[in-house]
Amino acid sequence: MAAAILGTAIFAAGGWGFAAVLFAFFLPAVALSRLGSRRKAAIADTDKRKARDARQVIANGGIAAACAIAYAFTRSPVLAAAFAGAFAAAAADTWGTELGTLARSAPRSIVNFRAVARGLSGGVTAWGTLAEAGGALTVGAVAWAAGIAPWWIVGVAGFAGALADSIFGATLQALRYCSRCRRLCETDPHLCGSATSLVRGWSAIDNDTVNAIATLTGALAAGGIAALYTAAF
Ligand SMILES: [Zn+2]
Repeated sequence: MAAAILGTAIFAAGGWGFAAVLFAFFLPAVALSRLGSRRKAAIADTDKRKARDARQVIANGGIAAACAIAYAFTRSPVLAAAFAGAFAAAAADTWGTELGTLARSAPRSIVNFRAVARGLSGGVTAWGTLAEAGGALTVGAVAWAAGIAPWWIVGVAGFAGALADSIFGATLQALRYCSRCRRLCETDPHLCGSATSLVRGWSAIDNDTVNAIATLTGALAAGGIAALYTAAF
């Protein structure tokens, strides 16, 4: 229901072009999350494996919806770019997570290059990084085709958002430990039902919070570059 409200608000605010950008994020995200889902469930041990809930929908689409609504009142091309940048960040993060988790290479922490368990936040691989670029550019191409913003602005902003996601995922986001399963995880309680203890980060900051920060980064980067670009040319 949250997704339906968000989608309707975006369509009402920006019309078919904005809706196309929403689908450029949403449809590949659904397809990629189903790809190799059984293998991913065995590897990744995080709340990302849960069915999508309202908090998750708002974390991924809330900033974009706010930009779309602000655009409806101002018709500012900077806000249109920010809207696309927010979804490009969400797409980049989703592609990186879904495809990067399937890659057989071992992820390393983006901040200290130490090995990280596959599927946990903050770990990066070459494949995952390439997938992030693919997700950002897919949304960029659709935004460009819909006349919303130049593809490269949206692509760069989406990649910047995914980078912020990895950095905050490796530092501020709560990393927890389940003493029953003897493994690291990101939820309390763990999927097994046992309480977990905090190992690193802030307990209030979970994957949804970090996703919201990433989409905000994407929106600010796209809006900022678009503003500079408009001022310069
Ligand atoms: Zn457990």
